[in-house]
Amino acid sequence: MGEFVRSSCRTRYLGRSGVNTPIFGGNPKGAVLSNRLLARTLTAYIVFLNVGCAAHAQHVVDQGIVIENVTLISPERAAPLRHADVVLRGGRIAEIGTNLVPGPHARRIDGSGRFLVPGLIDSHVHVGHSAALDDDAIEAYPELWAAYRAQVPRAYLAFGFTSIVDLDLRQSDQAWFGSTPLHPRFYSWGRGIKVAGGYMAFNVPSISSPNFPNLVYEPKEAEHWPKTLDIGDYTAERAVSRAADAGAICVKAFVESGFGTFSWPYLHTETLRKIQTAARERKLVFMVHANSVDSWRSALDAHADIIAHGLWVWPGDFGDAMPPPAASNVIAAAARAGTRLQPTMQTVAGERAILDPSLLNDPRLTMSLPPAVIDYLRSAAGAKARTALLDEYRKASPPPGFEPLLRAAIERAQATFKVMLQDHVPLVFGSDTPGVDGFGNPPGLNGRLELQNWAAAGAPLSLILRATTLDNATAFGLSHELGSIEVGKRADLLLLRENPLANVSAYDSIETIFLDGEPIAREALRAHN
Ligand SMILES: [Zn+2]
Repeated sequence: MGEFVRSSCRTRYLGRSGVNTPIFGGNPKGAVLSNRLLARTLTAYIVFLNVGCAAHAQHVVDQGIVIENVTLISPERAAPLRHADVVLRGGRIAEIGTNLVPGPHARRIDGSGRFLVPGLIDSHVHVGHSAALDDDAIEAYPELWAAYRAQVPRAYLAFGFTSIVDLDLRQSDQAWFGSTPLHPRFYSWGRGIKVAGGYMAFNVPSISSPNFPNLVYEPKEAEHWPKTLDIGDYTAERAVSRAADAGAICVKAFVESGFGTFSWPYLHTETLRKIQTAARERKLVFMVHANSVDSWRSALDAHADIIAHGLWVWPGDFGDAMPPPAASNVIAAAARAGTRLQPTMQTVAGERAILDPSLLNDPRLTMSLPPAVIDYLRSAAGAKARTALLDEYRKASPPPGFEPLLRAAIERAQATFKVMLQDHVPLVFGSDTPGVDGFGNPPGLNGRLELQNWAAAGAPLSLILRATTLDNATAFGLSHELGSIEVGKRADLLLLRENPLANVSAYDSIETIFLDGEPIAREALRAHN
Protein backbone atom coordinates (compact mmCIF):
# COMPACT_ATOMS: atom_id res chain seq x y z
CA MET A 1 0.00 0.00 0.00
CA GLY A 2 1.25 3.46 -0.72
CA GLU A 3 3.95 2.43 -3.15
CA PHE A 4 3.95 2.37 -6.87
CA VAL A 5 2.41 -1.01 -7.36
CA ARG A 6 3.02 -1.36 -11.06
CA SER A 7 5.33 -0.43 -13.87
CA SER A 8 5.84 3.04 -15.32
CA CYS A 9 2.55 3.85 -16.99
CA ARG A 10 0.30 1.97 -14.64
CA THR A 11 -1.75 2.72 -11.62
CA ARG A 12 -0.02 4.66 -8.91
CA TYR A 13 -2.07 3.74 -5.97
CA LEU A 14 -1.54 6.15 -3.15
CA GLY A 15 -3.58 4.52 -0.46
CA ARG A 16 -6.68 2.54 0.16
CA SER A 17 -8.82 5.64 0.45
CA GLY A 18 -7.12 7.33 -2.45
CA VAL A 19 -6.17 10.36 -0.30
CA ASN A 20 -2.54 9.56 0.25
CA THR A 21 -2.76 8.74 3.91
CA PRO A 22 0.19 6.39 3.88
CA ILE A 23 2.47 9.08 2.47
CA PHE A 24 1.41 12.06 4.52
CA GLY A 25 -0.78 10.85 7.32
CA GLY A 26 2.00 9.30 9.35
CA ASN A 27 3.87 12.58 9.59
CA PRO A 28 3.03 14.42 12.83
CA LYS A 29 4.42 17.57 11.23
CA GLY A 30 1.63 17.28 8.67
CA ALA A 31 -0.64 19.10 11.07
CA VAL A 32 1.47 22.24 10.80
CA LEU A 33 0.96 22.47 7.05
CA SER A 34 -1.99 24.61 6.20
CA ASN A 35 -4.81 22.85 4.45
CA ARG A 36 -4.18 24.91 1.32
CA LEU A 37 -0.54 24.00 1.22
CA LEU A 38 -1.41 20.37 1.74
CA ALA A 39 -3.94 20.50 -1.08
CA ARG A 40 -1.41 22.15 -3.39
CA THR A 41 1.26 19.61 -2.51
CA LEU A 42 -1.13 16.76 -3.23
CA THR A 43 -2.22 18.22 -6.53
CA ALA A 44 1.37 18.72 -7.64
CA TYR A 45 2.18 15.16 -6.64
CA ILE A 46 -0.76 13.70 -8.53
CA VAL A 47 0.01 15.80 -11.61
CA PHE A 48 3.60 14.57 -11.43
CA LEU A 49 2.43 10.99 -11.28
CA ASN A 50 0.27 11.35 -14.34
CA VAL A 51 2.90 12.95 -16.60
CA GLY A 52 3.02 10.90 -19.77
CA CYS A 53 -0.05 8.95 -18.76
CA ALA A 54 -2.76 11.49 -19.46
CA ALA A 55 -4.59 9.01 -21.66
CA HIS A 56 -4.59 6.47 -18.85
CA ALA A 57 -5.97 8.48 -15.97
CA GLN A 58 -6.59 6.14 -13.09
CA HIS A 59 -10.06 5.19 -12.10
CA VAL A 60 -11.08 4.06 -8.66
CA VAL A 61 -13.30 0.99 -8.46
CA ASP A 62 -14.97 0.61 -5.13
CA GLN A 63 -17.40 -2.25 -5.70
CA GLY A 64 -17.11 -5.87 -6.66
CA ILE A 65 -13.99 -7.93 -7.24
CA VAL A 66 -10.89 -6.45 -8.88
CA ILE A 67 -8.43 -8.96 -10.35
CA GLU A 68 -5.29 -6.81 -10.46
CA ASN A 69 -2.26 -6.76 -12.71
CA VAL A 70 -3.02 -9.98 -14.55
CA THR A 71 -2.12 -11.11 -18.08
CA LEU A 72 -5.47 -11.36 -19.82
CA ILE A 73 -5.67 -13.95 -22.59
CA SER A 74 -8.93 -14.17 -24.48
CA PRO A 75 -9.65 -15.36 -28.02
CA GLU A 76 -11.20 -12.11 -29.29
CA ARG A 77 -7.87 -10.32 -28.68
CA ALA A 78 -5.00 -10.46 -31.14
CA ALA A 79 -2.53 -10.44 -28.26
CA PRO A 80 -2.61 -10.85 -24.47
CA LEU A 81 -3.34 -7.70 -22.47
CA ARG A 82 -0.61 -7.37 -19.87
CA HIS A 83 -1.04 -5.66 -16.50
CA ALA A 84 -4.80 -5.83 -16.89
CA ASP A 85 -7.30 -5.09 -14.13
CA VAL A 86 -10.62 -6.86 -14.48
CA VAL A 87 -13.64 -5.89 -12.41
CA LEU A 88 -16.41 -8.41 -11.68
CA ARG A 89 -19.76 -7.25 -10.46
CA GLY A 90 -23.22 -8.80 -10.33
CA GLY A 91 -21.89 -12.02 -11.85
CA ARG A 92 -20.60 -10.23 -14.93
CA ILE A 93 -17.45 -8.66 -16.23
CA ALA A 94 -18.00 -4.99 -15.37
CA GLU A 95 -14.79 -3.27 -16.43
CA ILE A 96 -11.45 -4.07 -18.03
CA GLY A 97 -8.51 -1.67 -17.97
CA THR A 98 -4.90 -1.17 -17.14
CA ASN A 99 -5.52 1.75 -14.84
CA LEU A 100 -8.19 0.62 -12.41
CA VAL A 101 -7.57 1.26 -8.74
CA PRO A 102 -9.43 -0.80 -6.14
CA GLY A 103 -11.07 1.36 -3.50
CA PRO A 104 -11.51 0.30 0.13
CA HIS A 105 -14.73 -1.59 -0.52
CA ALA A 106 -13.54 -3.56 -3.50
CA ARG A 107 -12.32 -7.12 -3.02
CA ARG A 108 -8.82 -7.37 -4.45
CA ILE A 109 -7.35 -10.47 -6.06
CA ASP A 110 -3.69 -10.29 -6.98
CA GLY A 111 -3.16 -11.47 -10.53
CA SER A 112 0.55 -10.65 -10.65
CA GLY A 113 2.46 -13.17 -12.70
CA ARG A 114 -0.77 -15.01 -13.46
CA PHE A 115 -2.96 -15.54 -16.50
CA LEU A 116 -6.68 -14.94 -16.81
CA VAL A 117 -8.65 -16.86 -19.46
CA PRO A 118 -12.37 -17.37 -20.09
CA GLY A 119 -13.94 -20.35 -18.34
CA LEU A 120 -13.75 -23.42 -20.57
CA ILE A 121 -16.76 -24.95 -22.28
CA ASP A 122 -17.06 -28.69 -22.82
CA SER A 123 -19.84 -29.15 -25.33
CA HIS A 124 -20.09 -32.93 -25.11
CA VAL A 125 -20.74 -34.51 -21.74
CA HIS A 126 -23.19 -36.99 -20.25
CA VAL A 127 -23.46 -36.08 -16.58
CA GLY A 128 -25.85 -38.92 -15.76
CA HIS A 129 -23.65 -41.73 -17.08
CA SER A 130 -21.07 -43.28 -14.81
CA ALA A 131 -17.48 -42.99 -15.94
CA ALA A 132 -16.05 -45.19 -13.24
CA LEU A 133 -18.53 -47.66 -11.79
CA ASP A 134 -20.37 -50.30 -13.80
CA ASP A 135 -23.99 -51.27 -13.12
CA ASP A 136 -23.00 -54.11 -10.79
CA ALA A 137 -20.72 -51.83 -8.75
CA ILE A 138 -23.44 -49.19 -8.49
CA GLU A 139 -25.82 -51.81 -7.18
CA ALA A 140 -23.33 -53.38 -4.79
CA TYR A 141 -21.87 -50.12 -3.44
CA PRO A 142 -24.56 -47.42 -3.41
CA GLU A 143 -22.36 -45.27 -1.14
CA LEU A 144 -19.66 -45.20 -3.83
CA TRP A 145 -22.20 -44.15 -6.40
CA ALA A 146 -23.41 -41.35 -4.13
CA ALA A 147 -19.83 -40.17 -3.53
CA TYR A 148 -19.09 -40.35 -7.25
CA ARG A 149 -22.16 -38.32 -8.18
CA ALA A 150 -21.44 -35.68 -5.57
CA GLN A 151 -18.05 -35.07 -7.17
CA VAL A 152 -19.15 -34.96 -10.83
CA PRO A 153 -20.15 -31.26 -10.97
CA ARG A 154 -17.15 -30.22 -8.84
CA ALA A 155 -14.77 -32.18 -11.06
CA TYR A 156 -15.82 -30.25 -14.15
CA LEU A 157 -15.20 -26.98 -12.31
CA ALA A 158 -11.85 -28.16 -10.92
CA PHE A 159 -10.55 -28.69 -14.45
CA GLY A 160 -11.79 -25.27 -15.55
CA PHE A 161 -15.03 -26.26 -17.27
CA THR A 162 -17.43 -23.57 -16.12
CA SER A 163 -19.99 -24.52 -18.79
CA ILE A 164 -20.95 -27.94 -20.05
CA VAL A 165 -23.43 -29.14 -22.64
CA ASP A 166 -25.08 -32.51 -22.09
CA LEU A 167 -25.89 -34.22 -25.35
CA ASP A 168 -28.31 -36.88 -24.18
CA LEU A 169 -29.93 -35.88 -20.95
CA ARG A 170 -32.66 -37.60 -19.01
CA GLN A 171 -34.99 -35.40 -17.00
CA SER A 172 -34.07 -37.14 -13.76
CA ASP A 173 -30.39 -36.44 -14.36
CA GLN A 174 -31.15 -32.84 -15.22
CA ALA A 175 -33.02 -32.41 -11.94
CA TRP A 176 -30.23 -34.07 -9.95
CA PHE A 177 -27.42 -32.08 -11.55
CA GLY A 178 -29.28 -28.80 -11.25
CA SER A 179 -29.86 -29.43 -7.55
CA THR A 180 -26.18 -30.00 -6.69
CA PRO A 181 -24.86 -27.15 -4.52
CA LEU A 182 -22.02 -26.16 -6.84
CA HIS A 183 -22.07 -26.99 -10.52
CA PRO A 184 -20.98 -25.57 -13.85
CA ARG A 185 -23.38 -23.69 -16.06
CA PHE A 186 -25.43 -26.43 -17.65
CA TYR A 187 -27.01 -26.66 -21.09
CA SER A 188 -28.67 -29.59 -22.71
CA TRP A 189 -29.89 -31.04 -25.94
CA GLY A 190 -32.64 -32.96 -24.25
CA ARG A 191 -32.70 -36.57 -25.35
CA GLY A 192 -30.83 -37.37 -28.53
CA ILE A 193 -32.96 -38.62 -31.42
CA LYS A 194 -32.59 -42.36 -31.95
CA VAL A 195 -33.79 -45.23 -34.11
CA ALA A 196 -35.66 -48.13 -32.51
CA GLY A 197 -33.34 -51.12 -32.22
CA GLY A 198 -30.31 -48.96 -32.99
CA TYR A 199 -27.45 -47.42 -31.05
CA MET A 200 -28.48 -46.32 -27.54
CA ALA A 201 -31.98 -47.72 -28.13
CA PHE A 202 -31.33 -51.41 -28.72
CA ASN A 203 -34.16 -52.39 -26.41
CA VAL A 204 -36.95 -49.88 -26.34
CA PRO A 205 -38.50 -49.86 -22.85
CA SER A 206 -42.20 -49.33 -22.29
CA ILE A 207 -43.48 -45.87 -23.15
CA SER A 208 -44.17 -45.14 -19.48
CA SER A 209 -40.52 -45.74 -18.52
CA PRO A 210 -38.40 -42.69 -17.67
CA ASN A 211 -35.77 -44.27 -19.91
CA PHE A 212 -38.02 -44.26 -22.96
CA PRO A 213 -35.84 -42.72 -25.70
CA ASN A 214 -36.63 -39.86 -28.06
CA LEU A 215 -37.42 -42.01 -31.08
CA VAL A 216 -37.98 -41.10 -34.69
CA TYR A 217 -39.60 -43.48 -37.17
CA GLU A 218 -37.06 -44.44 -39.82
CA PRO A 219 -38.89 -45.97 -42.81
CA LYS A 220 -35.74 -47.76 -44.01
CA GLU A 221 -35.52 -49.58 -40.67
CA ALA A 222 -39.26 -50.30 -40.34
CA GLU A 223 -38.72 -53.95 -39.37
CA HIS A 224 -37.32 -52.83 -36.00
CA TRP A 225 -40.23 -50.53 -35.17
CA PRO A 226 -42.16 -51.54 -31.99
CA LYS A 227 -45.68 -52.47 -33.15
CA THR A 228 -47.27 -50.78 -30.12
CA LEU A 229 -46.08 -47.29 -31.11
CA ASP A 230 -48.08 -45.06 -33.47
CA ILE A 231 -45.78 -43.91 -36.28
CA GLY A 232 -47.56 -40.54 -36.44
CA ASP A 233 -46.20 -39.66 -32.99
CA TYR A 234 -42.61 -40.22 -34.10
CA THR A 235 -42.09 -37.93 -37.02
CA ALA A 236 -38.94 -35.79 -37.23
CA GLU A 237 -40.98 -32.74 -36.20
CA ARG A 238 -42.32 -34.47 -33.11
CA ALA A 239 -38.85 -35.69 -32.12
CA VAL A 240 -37.45 -32.17 -32.41
CA SER A 241 -40.36 -30.66 -30.50
CA ARG A 242 -39.86 -33.20 -27.69
CA ALA A 243 -36.23 -32.06 -27.38
CA ALA A 244 -37.28 -28.40 -27.50
CA ASP A 245 -39.98 -28.95 -24.87
CA ALA A 246 -37.30 -30.38 -22.56
CA GLY A 247 -35.45 -27.05 -22.75
CA ALA A 248 -32.86 -28.12 -25.31
CA ILE A 249 -30.70 -25.46 -26.96
CA CYS A 250 -29.98 -27.83 -29.82
CA VAL A 251 -30.88 -31.22 -31.24
CA LYS A 252 -28.64 -34.24 -31.61
CA ALA A 253 -29.39 -37.18 -33.88
CA PHE A 254 -27.48 -40.47 -33.85
CA VAL A 255 -26.16 -41.98 -37.08
CA GLU A 256 -24.41 -45.11 -35.88
CA SER A 257 -24.53 -48.29 -37.92
CA GLY A 258 -22.15 -50.15 -35.60
CA PHE A 259 -18.63 -48.66 -35.50
CA GLY A 260 -17.71 -50.57 -38.64
CA THR A 261 -18.14 -53.83 -36.74
CA PHE A 262 -21.86 -54.39 -36.27
CA SER A 263 -24.93 -53.83 -38.48
CA TRP A 264 -27.36 -51.79 -36.45
CA PRO A 265 -30.40 -49.93 -37.76
CA TYR A 266 -29.53 -46.23 -38.11
CA LEU A 267 -30.86 -42.86 -39.20
CA HIS A 268 -30.70 -42.43 -42.96
CA THR A 269 -30.07 -39.19 -44.79
CA GLU A 270 -33.70 -38.46 -45.75
CA THR A 271 -34.86 -38.62 -42.15
CA LEU A 272 -31.84 -36.61 -41.02
CA ARG A 273 -32.81 -33.89 -43.49
CA LYS A 274 -36.31 -33.77 -42.02
CA ILE A 275 -34.83 -33.42 -38.53
CA GLN A 276 -32.57 -30.65 -39.80
CA THR A 277 -35.53 -28.77 -41.28
CA ALA A 278 -37.52 -29.10 -38.06
CA ALA A 279 -34.52 -27.97 -36.00
CA ARG A 280 -33.96 -24.97 -38.24
CA GLU A 281 -37.61 -23.94 -37.91
CA ARG A 282 -37.16 -23.84 -34.16
CA LYS A 283 -33.77 -22.13 -34.46
CA LEU A 284 -32.06 -25.03 -32.76
CA VAL A 285 -28.49 -26.04 -33.56
CA PHE A 286 -28.43 -29.41 -35.31
CA MET A 287 -25.74 -31.89 -34.33
CA VAL A 288 -25.16 -35.37 -35.73
CA HIS A 289 -23.32 -38.17 -33.95
CA ALA A 290 -21.08 -39.68 -36.62
CA ASN A 291 -17.62 -41.24 -36.66
CA SER A 292 -17.49 -43.12 -39.99
CA VAL A 293 -16.93 -41.84 -43.51
CA ASP A 294 -20.50 -42.85 -44.47
CA SER A 295 -22.16 -41.21 -41.47
CA TRP A 296 -20.07 -38.05 -41.87
CA ARG A 297 -21.22 -37.86 -45.49
CA SER A 298 -24.81 -38.32 -44.43
CA ALA A 299 -24.44 -35.57 -41.80
CA LEU A 300 -22.99 -33.22 -44.42
CA ASP A 301 -25.77 -34.10 -46.89
CA ALA A 302 -28.30 -33.19 -44.20
CA HIS A 303 -26.52 -29.88 -43.48
CA ALA A 304 -25.64 -30.64 -39.88
CA ASP A 305 -24.28 -27.61 -38.01
CA ILE A 306 -21.90 -29.74 -35.97
CA ILE A 307 -20.59 -33.30 -36.28
CA ALA A 308 -19.99 -34.90 -32.89
CA HIS A 309 -16.93 -37.16 -33.00
CA GLY A 310 -13.85 -37.40 -35.07
CA LEU A 311 -13.39 -39.85 -37.91
CA TRP A 312 -12.06 -43.31 -37.20
CA VAL A 313 -14.28 -45.78 -39.08
CA TRP A 314 -13.96 -46.59 -42.77
CA PRO A 315 -14.17 -49.69 -44.96
CA GLY A 316 -11.14 -51.93 -45.36
CA ASP A 317 -8.52 -53.35 -43.03
CA PHE A 318 -9.53 -52.53 -39.43
CA GLY A 319 -5.93 -52.59 -38.26
CA ASP A 320 -4.75 -49.99 -40.78
CA ALA A 321 -4.55 -46.51 -39.26
CA MET A 322 -3.72 -44.61 -42.45
CA PRO A 323 -6.72 -42.49 -43.58
CA PRO A 324 -7.85 -43.51 -47.09
CA PRO A 325 -8.73 -40.89 -49.74
CA ALA A 326 -12.44 -41.27 -48.82
CA ALA A 327 -11.64 -39.98 -45.31
CA SER A 328 -9.59 -37.04 -46.55
CA ASN A 329 -12.33 -36.23 -49.05
CA VAL A 330 -15.11 -36.11 -46.50
CA ILE A 331 -12.97 -33.91 -44.21
CA ALA A 332 -12.32 -31.58 -47.14
CA ALA A 333 -16.08 -31.50 -47.80
CA ALA A 334 -16.71 -30.54 -44.17
CA ALA A 335 -14.14 -27.75 -44.51
CA ARG A 336 -15.85 -26.44 -47.65
CA ALA A 337 -19.27 -26.57 -46.00
CA GLY A 338 -17.95 -24.83 -42.87
CA THR A 339 -19.40 -27.62 -40.74
CA ARG A 340 -18.06 -27.54 -37.21
CA LEU A 341 -16.38 -30.67 -35.93
CA GLN A 342 -15.96 -31.96 -32.44
CA PRO A 343 -13.07 -34.43 -32.66
CA THR A 344 -13.57 -36.22 -29.26
CA MET A 345 -10.32 -38.19 -29.50
CA GLN A 346 -10.71 -39.17 -25.84
CA THR A 347 -13.76 -41.25 -26.78
CA VAL A 348 -11.43 -43.88 -28.18
CA ALA A 349 -8.31 -43.04 -26.15
CA GLY A 350 -10.28 -43.49 -22.91
CA GLU A 351 -10.80 -47.16 -23.71
CA ARG A 352 -7.11 -47.74 -23.00
CA ALA A 353 -7.98 -47.77 -19.28
CA ILE A 354 -9.59 -51.19 -19.76
CA LEU A 355 -6.17 -52.57 -20.72
CA ASP A 356 -3.90 -50.29 -18.78
CA PRO A 357 -5.05 -48.94 -15.41
CA SER A 358 -2.11 -46.53 -15.02
CA LEU A 359 -4.56 -43.59 -15.03
CA LEU A 360 -5.30 -44.67 -11.44
CA ASN A 361 -1.85 -43.35 -10.51
CA ASP A 362 -2.38 -39.95 -12.12
CA PRO A 363 -2.41 -37.47 -9.20
CA ARG A 364 -5.01 -35.39 -11.06
CA LEU A 365 -7.52 -38.22 -10.67
CA THR A 366 -8.03 -37.14 -7.04
CA MET A 367 -9.68 -33.95 -8.36
CA SER A 368 -12.01 -36.07 -10.46
CA LEU A 369 -13.03 -39.07 -8.34
CA PRO A 370 -13.55 -39.48 -4.57
CA PRO A 371 -10.83 -41.47 -2.73
CA ALA A 372 -13.25 -44.32 -2.01
CA VAL A 373 -13.99 -44.76 -5.72
CA ILE A 374 -10.29 -44.75 -6.58
CA ASP A 375 -9.71 -47.31 -3.81
CA TYR A 376 -12.47 -49.49 -5.26
CA LEU A 377 -10.99 -49.27 -8.78
CA ARG A 378 -7.63 -50.35 -7.33
CA SER A 379 -9.15 -53.19 -5.30
CA ALA A 380 -9.51 -56.82 -6.33
CA ALA A 381 -13.22 -56.21 -7.01
CA GLY A 382 -12.39 -53.29 -9.30
CA ALA A 383 -9.74 -55.29 -11.13
CA LYS A 384 -12.20 -58.16 -11.55
CA ALA A 385 -14.80 -55.87 -13.11
CA ARG A 386 -12.15 -54.51 -15.45
CA THR A 387 -11.10 -58.01 -16.52
CA ALA A 388 -14.73 -58.98 -17.14
CA LEU A 389 -15.19 -55.90 -19.33
CA LEU A 390 -11.98 -56.65 -21.23
CA ASP A 391 -13.21 -60.22 -21.87
CA GLU A 392 -16.47 -58.84 -23.24
CA TYR A 393 -14.65 -56.45 -25.55
CA ARG A 394 -12.29 -59.18 -26.71
CA LYS A 395 -15.21 -61.50 -27.52
CA ALA A 396 -17.07 -58.78 -29.42
CA SER A 397 -14.06 -57.62 -31.45
CA PRO A 398 -13.56 -58.94 -35.00
CA PRO A 399 -10.04 -59.84 -36.18
CA PRO A 400 -7.33 -58.71 -35.54
CA GLY A 401 -8.77 -58.42 -32.00
CA PHE A 402 -9.49 -55.77 -29.41
CA GLU A 403 -5.95 -54.56 -28.65
CA PRO A 404 -4.78 -53.93 -32.24
CA LEU A 405 -8.21 -52.51 -33.13
CA LEU A 406 -8.10 -50.07 -30.25
CA ARG A 407 -4.56 -49.03 -31.12
CA ALA A 408 -5.60 -48.45 -34.73
CA ALA A 409 -8.73 -46.50 -33.72
CA ILE A 410 -6.67 -44.17 -31.51
CA GLU A 411 -4.15 -43.65 -34.31
CA ARG A 412 -6.94 -43.10 -36.85
CA ALA A 413 -8.60 -40.46 -34.68
CA GLN A 414 -5.25 -38.65 -34.37
CA ALA A 415 -4.44 -38.95 -38.06
CA THR A 416 -7.81 -37.58 -39.22
CA PHE A 417 -7.58 -34.80 -36.62
CA LYS A 418 -4.32 -33.72 -38.27
CA VAL A 419 -6.12 -33.60 -41.63
CA MET A 420 -8.85 -31.43 -40.03
CA LEU A 421 -6.14 -29.05 -38.79
CA GLN A 422 -4.51 -28.89 -42.22
CA ASP A 423 -7.87 -28.23 -43.88
CA HIS A 424 -8.79 -25.56 -41.32
CA VAL A 425 -12.07 -27.24 -40.48
CA PRO A 426 -13.79 -25.18 -37.74
CA LEU A 427 -13.28 -27.16 -34.53
CA VAL A 428 -15.24 -27.08 -31.29
CA PHE A 429 -14.10 -28.73 -28.10
CA GLY A 430 -16.00 -31.63 -26.58
CA SER A 431 -14.66 -34.47 -24.47
CA ASP A 432 -17.56 -36.96 -24.65
CA THR A 433 -17.41 -37.66 -20.91
CA PRO A 434 -17.97 -40.50 -20.46
CA GLY A 435 -17.92 -41.93 -23.96
CA VAL A 436 -16.81 -45.45 -23.13
CA ASP A 437 -17.15 -48.17 -20.51
CA GLY A 438 -14.53 -48.33 -17.80
CA PHE A 439 -13.01 -45.45 -15.87
CA GLY A 440 -11.00 -43.98 -18.76
CA ASN A 441 -13.23 -40.92 -19.16
CA PRO A 442 -13.35 -39.48 -15.61
CA PRO A 443 -15.34 -36.25 -15.21
CA GLY A 444 -13.32 -33.07 -15.65
CA LEU A 445 -9.99 -34.88 -16.06
CA ASN A 446 -11.27 -36.37 -19.31
CA GLY A 447 -11.57 -32.87 -20.77
CA ARG A 448 -8.03 -32.13 -19.62
CA LEU A 449 -6.87 -35.32 -21.37
CA GLU A 450 -8.69 -34.24 -24.54
CA LEU A 451 -6.87 -30.87 -24.42
CA GLN A 452 -3.67 -32.94 -24.26
CA ASN A 453 -4.75 -35.00 -27.29
CA TRP A 454 -5.28 -31.83 -29.32
CA ALA A 455 -1.88 -30.45 -28.37
CA ALA A 456 -0.12 -33.78 -28.98
CA ALA A 457 -1.61 -33.94 -32.49
CA GLY A 458 -0.24 -30.50 -33.28
CA ALA A 459 -3.13 -28.10 -32.65
CA PRO A 460 -1.78 -24.61 -31.87
CA LEU A 461 -2.42 -23.62 -28.24
CA SER A 462 -4.29 -20.48 -29.35
CA LEU A 463 -6.63 -22.64 -31.45
CA ILE A 464 -7.19 -24.98 -28.49
CA LEU A 465 -8.17 -22.08 -26.23
CA ARG A 466 -10.42 -20.59 -28.88
CA ALA A 467 -12.19 -23.90 -29.67
CA THR A 468 -12.76 -24.45 -25.94
CA THR A 469 -14.14 -20.96 -25.29
CA LEU A 470 -15.41 -18.52 -27.91
CA ASP A 471 -15.86 -20.94 -30.81
CA ASN A 472 -17.81 -23.32 -28.61
CA ALA A 473 -19.96 -20.46 -27.34
CA THR A 474 -20.58 -19.23 -30.89
CA ALA A 475 -21.42 -22.71 -32.18
CA PHE A 476 -24.06 -23.16 -29.50
CA GLY A 477 -25.56 -19.67 -29.67
CA LEU A 478 -24.09 -18.67 -26.29
CA SER A 479 -21.51 -16.10 -27.35
CA HIS A 480 -23.59 -13.15 -26.10
CA GLU A 481 -22.98 -14.52 -22.59
CA LEU A 482 -19.90 -16.72 -22.66
CA GLY A 483 -16.61 -17.51 -24.35
CA SER A 484 -14.51 -14.36 -23.97
CA ILE A 485 -13.44 -11.76 -21.43
CA GLU A 486 -15.53 -8.78 -22.50
CA VAL A 487 -17.53 -6.27 -20.52
CA GLY A 488 -21.10 -7.48 -20.02
CA LYS A 489 -20.38 -11.18 -20.36
CA ARG A 490 -20.75 -13.67 -17.55
CA ALA A 491 -17.82 -13.58 -15.15
CA ASP A 492 -16.79 -17.21 -15.72
CA LEU A 493 -13.00 -17.08 -15.65
CA LEU A 494 -9.89 -19.04 -14.75
CA LEU A 495 -6.78 -17.74 -13.03
CA LEU A 496 -3.74 -19.82 -13.99
CA ARG A 497 -0.17 -19.81 -12.71
CA GLU A 498 1.18 -20.75 -16.13
CA ASN A 499 0.61 -19.45 -19.62
CA PRO A 500 -1.85 -21.56 -21.67
CA LEU A 501 -0.35 -20.14 -24.87
CA ALA A 502 3.07 -21.52 -23.87
CA ASN A 503 2.21 -25.07 -22.83
CA VAL A 504 -0.95 -27.16 -22.61
CA SER A 505 0.17 -28.22 -19.11
CA ALA A 506 -0.81 -24.70 -17.99
CA TYR A 507 -4.33 -26.12 -17.66
CA ASP A 508 -2.99 -28.08 -14.67
CA SER A 509 -2.03 -24.80 -13.00
CA ILE A 510 -5.54 -23.43 -12.44
CA GLU A 511 -5.59 -21.67 -9.05
CA THR A 512 -8.98 -20.04 -8.99
CA ILE A 513 -12.18 -20.69 -10.89
CA PHE A 514 -14.62 -17.78 -11.15
CA LEU A 515 -18.19 -18.88 -11.66
CA ASP A 516 -20.72 -16.09 -12.07
CA GLY A 517 -18.12 -13.79 -10.56
CA GLU A 518 -17.59 -15.89 -7.42
CA PRO A 519 -14.02 -17.09 -6.87
CA ILE A 520 -13.58 -20.77 -6.01
CA ALA A 521 -10.15 -22.02 -4.96
CA ARG A 522 -9.38 -25.08 -7.04
CA GLU A 523 -8.12 -26.93 -4.01
CA ALA A 524 -11.55 -26.58 -2.39
CA LEU A 525 -12.98 -28.73 -5.19
CA ARG A 526 -10.85 -31.76 -4.42
CA ALA A 527 -12.91 -34.89 -3.85
CA HIS A 528 -13.61 -36.19 -0.37
CA ASN A 529 -15.51 -39.28 0.62
ZN1 LIG B 1 -21.44 -38.71 -26.38
